[in-house]
Amino acid sequence: MKTLLRPVPIGRFRGVTVVAHWSALMTVLLVTWVLTFSFLPVIAPGRSPTVYWVAGALTSVAFMLSLLLHELSHALTAQRFGIEVKRVSLWLLGGATEFGALPPTPRADLLVAAAGPGTSVATGVATGLAATTLDVTGGSALVVAPLMWLAIVNLLIALFNLVPAAPLDGGRVVRAIVWWRTGDQLRGERVSAVAGRVFGLGLVAVGTGGAVAGRVPLLWLAVVGAFLAFYASAERSSNQLRHQLQDVLVQEVMTPDPPVAPGWWTAEDLLRYLATDRHRRVFPVVAPDGTPEGVVSISELVQVPDRAHTKVSDIARDVPVVQADESVLEVIARTSLGHGTDIVPVLRDGRLAGVLGVDDVAWASEISRAVRLEEREAS
Ligand SMILES: [Zn+2]
Repeated sequence: MKTLLRPVPIGRFRGVTVVAHWSALMTVLLVTWVLTFSFLPVIAPGRSPTVYWVAGALTSVAFMLSLLLHELSHALTAQRFGIEVKRVSLWLLGGATEFGALPPTPRADLLVAAAGPGTSVATGVATGLAATTLDVTGGSALVVAPLMWLAIVNLLIALFNLVPAAPLDGGRVVRAIVWWRTGDQLRGERVSAVAGRVFGLGLVAVGTGGAVAGRVPLLWLAVVGAFLAFYASAERSSNQLRHQLQDVLVQEVMTPDPPVAPGWWTAEDLLRYLATDRHRRVFPVVAPDGTPEGVVSISELVQVPDRAHTKVSDIARDVPVVQADESVLEVIARTSLGHGTDIVPVLRDGRLAGVLGVDDVAWASEISRAVRLEEREAS
């Protein structure tokens, strides 16, 4: 089930990985369906069903390609500003570009955001011109109509994306402008996130209201609105964390020289020993030479049936190991710290130097926020 839900890589373009979620296929089918049964037979009547199917499918694929073009223009502009691009993905509601870092300047933020709608407008104008040219030179309606449809849809996509609300491109434009005017990136983030929630919830209200009044297809608006409102908040908190932990290294926030669980001890010995130190729940397990062998928690020790004959190293849980000079943001992205993993062992020169826990990261982000507030009050 999980592998079914995972996005499938479909290619690479100038170092950018492109993946497609299975739900993108639903979009292709839905668009094909609408074109084949509602649009094409009306605009270009009198053809066989096969012809409509083929034209519908080709237009639907071209539509997905135009979405991909939109996302790739975000990605390639970001790369020009040295912003790492994780991947571009296609899914049910269109496309998305994931970045590995926040834009370095308001200018970069603005241009990366504007590139997408700019490309959609260009695609719309180009396909519109092609349709018009073909139309006046006597081209088949079966080619003219899909081109015109692509033109209108791309212009609408540009328009929708320019609504000034996160996580839409227009929200990023607002973020960049507020950041540029005030010098405060987080303030820009806040303004666009609030706009995103208001816009998203507005769509939910219109969509459900319309559905209740009998216009059931308007439920789609509610789904899109709910997604936008949720994502506006999620993006803001993750960007806030990124902002607060930028340039923070593991060694600055880890707990150094933590009490360790010797892997060669029995579970029973360790439990008895731990009764004297009641302030921790999870411990790094080490081999006699000091190399980490995972982590173990008190509750895991308690669950062992034969504690007197079970070595701690045999029940140690495998967790990722991180380096002291790694950035905390990298560690959060790489490990599942906080999502099932309480602590990860930290190495320096191959030896255990400390542990990094969820609390350490929370502490770092809160302290950095306090320092920022202090700086703002002082200035
Ligand atoms: Zn976009």
